[in-house]
Amino acid sequence: MAALDGLPPLRDVIQRHGLDAKKALGQNFLLDLNLTQKIARTAGPLEDCTVIEVGPGPGGLTRAILALGAKKVIAVERDSRCLPALAEISDHYPGRLEVIEGDALKTDFAALADGGPTRIIANLPYNVGTQLLVNWLLPGGWPPFYRSMTLMFQKEVGLRIVAREDDDHYGRLGVLCGWRTNARMAFDVPPQAFTPPPKVTSTVVHLEPIATPLACDARALERVTQAAFGQRRKMLRQSLKPVGGEALLARAGIDPQRRAETLSVAEFVALANELE
Ligand code: SAM
Repeated sequence: MAALDGLPPLRDVIQRHGLDAKKALGQNFLLDLNLTQKIARTAGPLEDCTVIEVGPGPGGLTRAILALGAKKVIAVERDSRCLPALAEISDHYPGRLEVIEGDALKTDFAALADGGPTRIIANLPYNVGTQLLVNWLLPGGWPPFYRSMTLMFQKEVGLRIVAREDDDHYGRLGVLCGWRTNARMAFDVPPQAFTPPPKVTSTVVHLEPIATPLACDARALERVTQAAFGQRRKMLRQSLKPVGGEALLARAGIDPQRRAETLSVAEFVALANELE
């Protein structure tokens, strides 16, 4: 497919730089620039923004973000094989793409942001995606350094992110995301859109931080959700025993016969606030 940005087609880039996909690095590349533009557009206006991208790979999504006018892209990539391909993009957009070779799980993203409006956009490696999201959701201070996160996940994970009470996909991730963000699933991406195709459908999720979420200690919320959903079929008086059981439920005014999946985010916050 002819590229709108004047750079070579991604298939050629991959071939020239020998970027055959490595499963261990969660490499499923997007080669369709219409699709990468659709993902980048889902993030909202980019003109005045610094965009943080995890795992640019050969640079398909990176190119879309730059073509849509992002002031700057800071991209963290673990696979050094991708760096020469990314350097070509950097040359094409002088001063607008900074590539950091490293592990996103060990990166201090808040320190990378320059204090101006920042968005996170990424087609995440499936094996570290959930952990990265949790890291971005649970910094000490709030509001966080970013204005939004537009992230590709396996659809199953996307469903868990947006799930609320009385939904089979509701769990710890739904509570954490519901507490601090407004999250929505934007659109699905079928396996055949990727090279190589993964086994499952993917989905793009867009999350925006809530300016003033209910007051709560993040670690306490993690503890109650872990206990409650660790035994999700049991009544809360049983599943919450390790963190205070019936006494905790009484202090929070919650019926001990209920099950985890029926509690709203606000009720989990009430429980966390009653933890000793
Ligand atoms: N953004 C490209 C695209 O959309 O075609 C590639 C996405 S691919 C699903 C995930 C990318 O994340 C790969 O380039 C992989 O090398 C990189 N990656 C995997 N683990 C990583 C980590 N811990 N830190 C940074 N990048 C990582």
